[in-house]
Amino acid sequence: MTQLIRSVELSPGLYVVATPIGNLRDVTLRALDTLASVDVIYAEDTRQTKRLLDTYAISAPLKPYHDHNGAQMRPRILRDIEEGRAVALVSDAGTPLISDPGYKLVRELTEAGHSVVPLPGPSAAIAALSAAGLPTDVFTFAGFLPPKSGQRQDRLRAFSAQKATLVLYETGPRLVDTLQDLVESCGGDIEVVLARELTKLFEEFRRGSAEDLLAALKDEPPPKGEIVLLISMTGEPAGEASQEQIDAYLREHLPKLGAKGAANEAARKYGKPKRELYARAVELQKSEEP
Ligand code: SAM
Repeated sequence: MTQLIRSVELSPGLYVVATPIGNLRDVTLRALDTLASVDVIYAEDTRQTKRLLDTYAISAPLKPYHDHNGAQMRPRILRDIEEGRAVALVSDAGTPLISDPGYKLVRELTEAGHSVVPLPGPSAAIAALSAAGLPTDVFTFAGFLPPKSGQRQDRLRAFSAQKATLVLYETGPRLVDTLQDLVESCGGDIEVVLARELTKLFEEFRRGSAEDLLAALKDEPPPKGEIVLLISMTGEPAGEASQEQIDAYLREHLPKLGAKGAANEAARKYGKPKRELYARAVELQKSEEP
């Protein structure tokens, strides 16, 4: 087998490296090349990152960068780069800065004119969205909601006005409370997908209306592991829209948007293939011609 991990020449700067969210093989070759070649890796939890590096027999100096030492570490990282070093930033799992530390660091470095290079890879939000079966053309990622119920309900109400799929990070013990807040603030008929332990042994997707999922989860112990909660805020109740509903929507929008525009809008609203809706829109258009 050819050597998969290569040592590469890196110019000075910050390399923001995404790492696995569970399955350690979900890492790009470029991420491994970079981690093997930088002068220093700043990690949210050095022990966790060491496990990943050991798996791939990579040794590199590891230093901590997290919410509690960020202010102290940023000038050091700036100095590292000014002195010509290539520096990697990794978080415990997934993409740094996505509900993880790094924003202030990236901001300060870009403001100082340094190079910041993204190395894309896993992120729980995108992994969940890619398999949930909810509309993906417009989505809002909101990380963790506030811990207080009243604030949570306010946020959920505000998000529901956006008509997008809402992607949240959630914890097992808080899940029922969040679903309860969702039902109270936005109604029980909203379609929800629970994505748990993605890429791990007990990966699970549960789909249903907010009300049904809440009723089921109330009777169970809090789910273990890591959770992404996806909520379809597109204004459609859970369950398939009927052909009559879709036809009515297409008819309403045909005069103004034409077949293509009406089909695109309907595809967004109902999460159905554009091509199928375009064919139906053309059919309806023809049937209404004098
Ligand atoms: N930066 C990470 C990313 O790109 O996904 C997210 C970090 S955030 C501190 C951790 C949260 O992400 C977890 O509490 C959970 O909500 C979600 N998460 C991370 N890994 C996950 C997984 N394997 N399955 C489901 N959710 C996950």
